[in-house]
Amino acid sequence: MNLSTAPAVPELFSTFLSKLSASISTEAKVLTNQNGTEFQESLQRWSDIALKIPTAIVLVATENDVVLTVKLAVELGIPFVPKSGGHSLWSTIGDEGFILDLSLLKRISIDTEGKMVTVESGVLIKEVNDAAFERALGNGNTIGVVPQALGGGISALSSLCGYTSDSIVSARLVTASGSLITVSHTSHPELLWALQGAGQFFGIVTELTLQAYPLSILGTSDGTVWTGSIVFPTQRAEEVLRALAPLIADESTPAIGLFLIAAPPPMFTTCLVIIPVFFGPTSAAEQYYEPIITLGPMMMDCKAVPFARLNDSMETFCSKGGFKRFAGAGIQKSDPSVWPKVIELFEELKSKCPDAGATGYAFEWNAYSPENKISHADTAFSHRDVKVWSELLSWYTSPESYAEVYRIEQEVLALVRHGQTEENQAAFPNWTRDEPLQRRYRGSERLEKLKGLKREWDPKGIFTSQLL
Ligand SMILES: Cc1cc2nc3c(=O)[nH]c(=O)nc-3n(C[C@H](O)[C@H](O)[C@H](O)COP(=O)(O)OP(=O)(O)OC[C@H]3O[C@@H](n4cnc5c(N)ncnc54)[C@H](O)[C@@H]3O)c2cc1C
Repeated sequence: MNLSTAPAVPELFSTFLSKLSASISTEAKVLTNQNGTEFQESLQRWSDIALKIPTAIVLVATENDVVLTVKLAVELGIPFVPKSGGHSLWSTIGDEGFILDLSLLKRISIDTEGKMVTVESGVLIKEVNDAAFERALGNGNTIGVVPQALGGGISALSSLCGYTSDSIVSARLVTASGSLITVSHTSHPELLWALQGAGQFFGIVTELTLQAYPLSILGTSDGTVWTGSIVFPTQRAEEVLRALAPLIADESTPAIGLFLIAAPPPMFTTCLVIIPVFFGPTSAAEQYYEPIITLGPMMMDCKAVPFARLNDSMETFCSKGGFKRFAGAGIQKSDPSVWPKVIELFEELKSKCPDAGATGYAFEWNAYSPENKISHADTAFSHRDVKVWSELLSWYTSPESYAEVYRIEQEVLALVRHGQTEENQAAFPNWTRDEPLQRRYRGSERLEKLKGLKREWDPKGIFTSQLL
């Protein structure tokens, strides 16, 4: 154990740090020097919005370290937040508490017989995709596998294997009382239901076992996926959206895609970018996307790429630092008359906040329903019926831009939600904790069940007071 020079901290916190340092493993680190390189590195997050500086960062090295840390913190009343890949806006805390950094917990084991992969809580998506030969997960490379799965988990593979949370077979969970329990279909099944979509509210998952799939599900002989970019000028929005509509509505083919309004380098001119993902040979993909290709895009670079490289195009969006936030809403269909107005708002944003040029307003679709799909009530994840959803990534560099960026983002949200009843409104829990609970965990039965479990397992709100 390595305790770096501690600044003056209140007595109770001091007691906590010295007791913890005396008990956790020698590989663990308790960082309190806020100017130290390791402290600064661990503090980095995907977004600097509302970034706070904690009194300490505890880098645990074993599962037992997690148990000891949670027990002692709860006993002494020291608040903390767990952190894995650092891509959410919530793994941050001020000087009243500490970050429980799980990034050293990197074990991955693959059970080829049982077709399962077990990951510790510091494992990132890319590490599973690289290691899991004949097994696959999807999403941004540097995102933590465990938090992504616990929040529902939409990925390129959702159309083939369901959401990542659907694949959860079991978990090892450190509860708010510091107990280590196994959660599975036979042990605390009600908690398994909750971990499948609302799992960040009930404790720290030290290890997650997920069902894995053979790469052959991709429909290619070499484990590749057809993807890339198809680019059009914004003036062609309505005609592109009309051509896209039947593909978005098609429930027979496991193709998914993203329609993005952005101003990428080198020209920084606003354009429309379709990012398709097709499971099957290139010839079948090109035939499927013919209605779009025949429109004559200004640029197209789609090709077959190895599955493990599928997320590489997201690298820029996953980078740490800068002011970024996600907003979005389930929209069910892409109304072609709405998106030209979104383009106008995007142009307004660019002219009023030139530092927000990396922003992108998009919608994503996944209409295919695989046969193994589980029913809406089977897990806490309530985005299951949402086939099309908007994704608004606001990205700016000057904190003064926040108000304007936020105002325009909210206008876009209102546009895409136009005509929806409150009951139909859906917000993806992995992106937001601002939206009302009933949009994130839809249906009063689901919400009441979650609240009951929260009162039972975390009555003091150790892992956020939301749901209480
Ligand atoms: C560019 C980008 C693209 C994204 N695309 C998608 C997408 O396509 N599909 C999708 O589903 N999500 C997507 N997300 C959202 C992402 O999956 C979630 O924000 C995820 O929770 C981030 O995990 P993390 O480990 O990186 O973040 P962290 O901030 O480390 O953790 C996220 C939350 O989980 C808690 N937590 C961390 N570790 C644990 C643990 N072991 N046990 C319990 N709680 C824990 C943290 O306290 C925090 O509240 C995207 C995010 C970004 C930035």
